Parts: sequence; C-alpha cells; structure tokens
Amino acid sequence: MSQLKPQPFKNRLQTPIQYVKGVGPKLARLLAKKGLRTVEDGLYFLPRCYEDRRYIKKISELRAGRKETGFGEIQLSGMAFFQNRKKRVFEVLVGDGSGTITLKWFHGHERYLQERFKKGRRLIFSGEVRWFHYQKEIHHPDVEIVEGDIEEDSLNFKRIVPIYSETEGLYQRTLRRLMKNIVDGYSDALKSPLPREILERQDLIDFSEAFRRVHFPPEGESIERLNLHRSDGHRRIIFDEFFFLELGLAMKKRGVALETGISFKTEGRLAQRLLERLPFRLTHAQERVLAEMVEDMEKPHPMNRLIQGDVGSGKTILALLASLRVVECGYQAAIMAPTEVLAEQHYLTIHRWTEPLGVKVALLTSHVKGAEREESYARIQKGEVQIVIGTHAVIQEQVEFHRLGLAIIDEQHKFGVVQRGLLKKKGENPDVLVMTATPIPRTLAMTLYGDLDVSLIDEMPPGRRPVTTRVFLESGRARAYRIVEEEIRKGRQAFIVYPLVEESEKLDLRDATRMSDHLQKEVFPDFRIGLLHGRMKSEEKEAIMMDFKERKIDILVATTVIEVGIDIPNASVMVIEHAERFGLSQLHQLRGRIGRGQHPSTCILLAQYRSSKEARIRLRAMEETNDGFKIAEQDLELRGPGEFFGIRQSGLPDFRVAHILRDTPILIEARKEAFRLVQEDPDLADPSHAALKETLKQRWRGRLELATIG
Ligand code: ADP
Ligand code: MG
Repeated sequence: MSQLKPQPFKNRLQTPIQYVKGVGPKLARLLAKKGLRTVEDGLYFLPRCYEDRRYIKKISELRAGRKETGFGEIQLSGMAFFQNRKKRVFEVLVGDGSGTITLKWFHGHERYLQERFKKGRRLIFSGEVRWFHYQKEIHHPDVEIVEGDIEEDSLNFKRIVPIYSETEGLYQRTLRRLMKNIVDGYSDALKSPLPREILERQDLIDFSEAFRRVHFPPEGESIERLNLHRSDGHRRIIFDEFFFLELGLAMKKRGVALETGISFKTEGRLAQRLLERLPFRLTHAQERVLAEMVEDMEKPHPMNRLIQGDVGSGKTILALLASLRVVECGYQAAIMAPTEVLAEQHYLTIHRWTEPLGVKVALLTSHVKGAEREESYARIQKGEVQIVIGTHAVIQEQVEFHRLGLAIIDEQHKFGVVQRGLLKKKGENPDVLVMTATPIPRTLAMTLYGDLDVSLIDEMPPGRRPVTTRVFLESGRARAYRIVEEEIRKGRQAFIVYPLVEESEKLDLRDATRMSDHLQKEVFPDFRIGLLHGRMKSEEKEAIMMDFKERKIDILVATTVIEVGIDIPNASVMVIEHAERFGLSQLHQLRGRIGRGQHPSTCILLAQYRSSKEARIRLRAMEETNDGFKIAEQDLELRGPGEFFGIRQSGLPDFRVAHILRDTPILIEARKEAFRLVQEDPDLADPSHAALKETLKQRWRGRLELATIG
C-alpha cells in the first residue's frame, strides 16, 4: 500500500482520499477498509466488470440464455418456500409495463432483502435470464436501486457503466460518483513516460486517458473487450505495470553482469576425473547446461544462473561439476539445501564421489553440534574444506569461508530472498547457481527470475520409465496393497506417504506412526517397514534413510519430509494417502521420488470418496501427465500466482491491475520492450529517458521492491 506523506502533497496522487469532494469521514473509513487511502489507490481501483446501459431493454425484450440488463418497478417481494418447505427463496417480481420478471435469491438475510426490495422501488438488474414455468427469471442478479430520474442521470445510465467491487454500506452509485470525481480531478497527474517509439510500436494510448476510459468507457467501446480487460485502456495500464517491473529487472541483470567477479579459468581436470568415474554419461541436456555454466564461470563477472530441471533430471551432478572447477582454482563452494534429509543425502553422494579425488567435503546441519561443529568451522575458515554442504546452518554468522567462489542453492523456491543474499555475502561476488525442481511456468519464471539467466534440463537420464499414476478410492485400498506386495516380491521397494505425523481426530487423517504399526502387524508381516517423519531426530532420520538405501527396509512409511530430492532408484511404487489433501506441485514432487531407476513405477493416489472439485481436477491432472511444466501450469491456474509459492517467498510483486496468467501476452511484449531499451541505453542516460528513469526509481522503491532477487 502506498504510504501517506505528512507534507503537502508534492505528488498530487498521494492526496488522501478524504480530501476528494463528497468524501466524509464515514465514507473514508469504508474506503480504507478496501485499502483505498489515496487518490492514486482510487485511480487503480478498476471496475470489476461493466454493464451495458447504453440502451435499456424492455422486460419483454430480454432474451433467455444471455446476460441481460433491465429496469422496472418492484410489484411484489417476499420469501417463498419449496420442496416441502425445506428450501427457501427470496423472490422479487419486477415489471415495466411490457412484462414481468422474477429475481431470485437462494440465500441471504431475509430482513436485509425485505428492507432493500420494498414494493414500489425501482431498480436496475442484470444477470443471466432463464425461463421457469413460463416466467422469466434471474438468479442472484446484480441490482441497483434507482433514485431520481433515469433520463437525467448520465453517470449511472445511458452509458457503459462500471461495476466496482462493493463492501457493505458502500454501493455502486456512491462508488461511481466518487470515482468520477477522482478521475476528473486527478487522472492527469498519472505519469508513465514511455518513449514514443514504444508507444507507437505497441499501439498504446495516453496513460491518463487510459484511466479515464477504463473507469468511464466512451460510447463506442466494446463491452466484450472491457469485460475481458482487453480494452485499449486496460492494455495500456497493464503494459505499464509489467514494463516497469521488467525494466528494473533488465537493469539489475545488466548491473550484475557488470560487477567484477571471479574468472574461473581451468581445464577442469578434477571434473574430468569425476566424469570418468561416473557409472553413467551426462545427457545432452546436462552437457549443454554444463557448457552454459562454464562459459559464465570463465567470465570476470559473477554468474547468476538458474537451473530448472524436473525431479530426477540430474541437477546434483551439475552442481558438483561446477564446484570442482571452483575448487581447482583454489576456491570453495557451498551448497545449501532446504531440509536436513536432503543436505545429508547430498553430503553422502558428493562425499562418495569426491573422496577419491582428494577433495574435502563438510556437512553443516543443526545436527552437527559441539566440538564437531567448531572443528568444521575452523577447517572451513582455513580452507581445508573445499565443499561445504548444509542447511540454513551454512549461512549462520559464525560460518566464515576462506575463499567462497560459488554459492549453490538447491530447491531454491524453498528459500527466501534474504537467505539467498546471505549465502552470496559469504564470499566476494561469488558465482551464484540456483537450482529448482519445481518447474516454474515460463511466465512466472520471466517475472520471478527476470534478472537471472535460465538453463533448462529438458531431458531425463536414459532408461527412465515414466511413472504410471492411478487414483484409487478407499475401496481400492486392498488392490493398492497388492501392487505394493508384488513390487517388493520382485525386489523393489515402496513408499507410503501420509500428510501428517500424529493422529488428528479433527481431520481424520491416517497417522503415519499408527499406520506403520498396522501395516507391519496386519498387512505386510513378512516385509520390513521403516518410518520417517519430520519430528524425528536427524540421527534417526539418517539411519532410516541409510537402511532404506541399503535395502534393509522394504517399505518406507513417511510424511512429506521425503518431498524434496530423496534418491532411491530401487523404489518403484508409491502410495499417497489422502492424496486429495495435497497440492498439485507437492504431489508431483512426491511422485518424483520413484521412477528414478530402470524399473517401471507406479504411483497410487488414494483419495476419499468425498473430495472437492478442485481436488478431483488435481488428481486427474496427475493421472494424465508426468510433465512437470504442464502440472505447474495447471497448479498456477488452480491456485493463482500468489498462492503458487507464497508471495513473500517467491518475490512476486503483487500487481495492482495486471494478472500474470490472463495478461501473459502483454507481459511478453512489455518484457521485450524493456530489455530492448536497456540494450540500447544501458544506464538510461539519454536525456530523453530522464523522466522514465525517475519513474522507474519511484516504482521500485515502492511496490516493486518485492521482486528483488538476492
Ligand atoms: P534432481 O535433478 O532431481 O536433483 P538428481 O541429481 O538427484 O536429480 O539425480 C537423480 C538420479 O539420477 C541420481 O541417482 C543421479 O546419480 C542420476 N543421474 C544423474 N545424471 C544421470 C545421467 N546422465 N545418467 C544416468 N543417471 C543419472
Ligand atoms: Mg535434487
């Protein structure tokens, strides 16, 4: 939210909304509830939709099956009952001389409705018209009580009328009058000094004019385009919002590219020796991404690269190969992972690979304590350890590196901006590599990581078989267990995943601890069952993971602690209990734990009979595709960008008008223009860009700050 400045309003847009004509303290309070404090907030409070009242039809002319707007006088109103008085509906009969129509509300306070829809009042209504027993009706229409003369009222009638989102006590007529005053009085103060070429190339109208048209569309405007937020006015405002975000990102990216960093020039001997020992060859995609990294690393500027690759695409080995190049140049590398289990697993894998190369690796987690920890600190500081792997423990104040050259963040979406920044600060402009297994849809990646270079591993190691996913209801439980049994008899291993650790009567979730007992005693007495959950001590977790890896355990019953990164190629079946309760990305991550070896794998999603429509869409999406990108797109659509990662973590700015999914085409254009501009005038030093630069600074100081990536 914009901050109020105490001084006279140098910027007229910061004028408090209560100074606007007709706004008293009571209205100001209601507006504040909606987050509207300044005139600028008001201007950006765009209509939710529009109603075509240029010509108001007679009730007899209203056609069924369409969204229509009509006008008339209330002839009758009251509560009616149906289905043996079990259900109630509030009905309002409206007539205009040409015919009548019934407006119906199936819920709502009777008293409130009675009060509002008194006989004799005139109202304007709109909604989808349908036929019922030879009578036209509209369910839950948008309505507006009309006072005064329609012919005289040019704000609410005889035009395309804006419909704003309401709050109790704050109705359309009030909002419209207020918005008219704000738009007339202040829209000319809005500035978006885009270069003329861009305006022309993108066919964009004047910025202030855009606001005027969006709030009070001119006569000839298309109602369809308005309602799709695709009018020229909408496009101009949305473009502006994306453009300044992307312009800032473009400059940041350039800024990093200009910073002095370390040039890691090496033949890559250590990396070569490791590659020779690996039991596999890198995929083409891995080779390509490695080459992209090496090119960055050789440059005398810091690398700032994101590796995106679906679960199991082989990011760890790339992290290690990059680390080895740094080590060969006499620097250290740090790898930070979001969970202890994952950090420990990385440590085990990497330690095994680097031991023969004489490279020393240290593990820092909360579980490494006391003397052991002190010793690690000392060795890291002296440079006796070359690769440090750990959790948040790595960014603790006490940790000092001898010479940190490369900071790697695994599963980076699990970390906040600050933590990434802290790791980077452990060195002097080290190279930064962030890795993510959550496939971020292109549009989101563009805004989130606009200042990073992105490498994509778009190929899986060979021999992987896609995982077959099936949704079973409770009735399929026995069948699910049989599938698990068959796999184990073939020498494979299984995961059974639960959403929570302890029984919660309220949620009726199966509790992992209790279930592992039950499975051991009653279902799989011949198999060895292990339990892994978040509340266990790290030593216990590690022991269990080792046992599972060494096949001392057949079935690992686990909570979602196994969500990220765990690598057990022999596991070929996973049963997810209460699958309807998991988010789509989470399900995909979980499923990524299997299908990592040569064997065909099966993922069984056990769902309750009663689950929400959204849950059913999620489960179906899981059955239909293994493609992480498709899943992420779907997830984004279901949950919206804010929820996708949690705004704060993602660093996604909360757009005022733009909608990242709906407005993708505009985002792409805005990004293109912003990057082109920075290419042509890197510091925006051209005098004709002075106003632009000033606006950019203001925007980034305010709302866009969130978009900063550490
Ligand atoms: P993620 O990208 O999910 O972090 P990992 O790095 O954990 O994936 O790799 C998953 C598994 O694939 C590991 O067992 C790893 O050793 C193996 N792997 C990586 N690259 C290849 C390859 N090119 N060929 C075969 N196996 C590979
Ligand atoms: Mg990984």
